[in-house]
Amino acid sequence: MVVNYSNDYDVKCQLDTCKTYPVITDSDRGEMFCGGCGLVLVQNIADISHENNGYTQEEYMKFARTGPATSLTMHDKGLSTVIGIDKDSTGKALSSKTKFEFNRLRTWDQRSKSRKTSTLSKAFTLLHGMKTKLGVSDNVVENAAYIYRKVVNAKLTRGRTMSSLVSAALYAACRENNIPRTLDDIASVGNVERRILSRDLRTIIKKLGLNLNQYDTTSFISKISNNMNLKEKTKRDACDILKRCENEMITAGKHPVAQAAASLYIACILNGEKISQKKFSIESGVSDVTIRNRAVLIKKTLKILDDEDSECHSNLL
Ligand SMILES: [Zn+2]
Repeated sequence: MVVNYSNDYDVKCQLDTCKTYPVITDSDRGEMFCGGCGLVLVQNIADISHENNGYTQEEYMKFARTGPATSLTMHDKGLSTVIGIDKDSTGKALSSKTKFEFNRLRTWDQRSKSRKTSTLSKAFTLLHGMKTKLGVSDNVVENAAYIYRKVVNAKLTRGRTMSSLVSAALYAACRENNIPRTLDDIASVGNVERRILSRDLRTIIKKLGLNLNQYDTTSFISKISNNMNLKEKTKRDACDILKRCENEMITAGKHPVAQAAASLYIACILNGEKISQKKFSIESGVSDVTIRNRAVLIKKTLKILDDEDSECHSNLL
């Protein structure tokens, strides 16, 4: 097994006399120490030894040593302090005095959790709720949690609500992972005003120096057409129209969802699929007036003219 230690573990003892001694790793204790003087250089290292979960439930129970993987979406990354049950290491019951002592420790452990930790855990509960409603994957949520942690560390929380910051972090994560979700989607799920959300998003992007890619507009075509039962050819034509629009440079600065919806609308007409603009408007969340205007511009620029067009158009309206 090839082991790559991170740079944190790239340590050496600073004493001159120890220069020639190796650093020894004790995986049982999770420590790395100097082979010369015995100074502990790293504590609590991650256990990278081979995990054997066995083949049966019984073996699994016997061998399993770990809980779930650490996750940024938990306020303590899933590594909370656990003050054990009222038994000592040999399994004997504790005396009532010691029991009392441990109860007190447990109470103080809870109370001493800083304000930051408790707000973090509230924020991540919110994030998990939004994850389910939006149907985004774990790695996007993990990414959002990472961005939210950066927001908190940069002290951007003052004067902004938690829900709008969490929503903004989630939107940024969606953009980074090219998962097509619009600001409106996220605003409605996070119960935030869209205006506030976009304001906070701008702040986050500026202050954290995030570099978000433009959405690949074609991903919106599949998102919109998912519930419409369209032919594959129609979708492909829509992508084609979109590509040609990009080549003609009429997409820059335009609403990507409207652009995708309009392309799909034109492709539907060309392929004889009768779907009303109203339906497009509902599926894409863009007003039918916007879609109509975009469609007119696209048709004019790409010189898409057919006899069917005028007829279909009047039917659908
Ligand atoms: Zn040393």
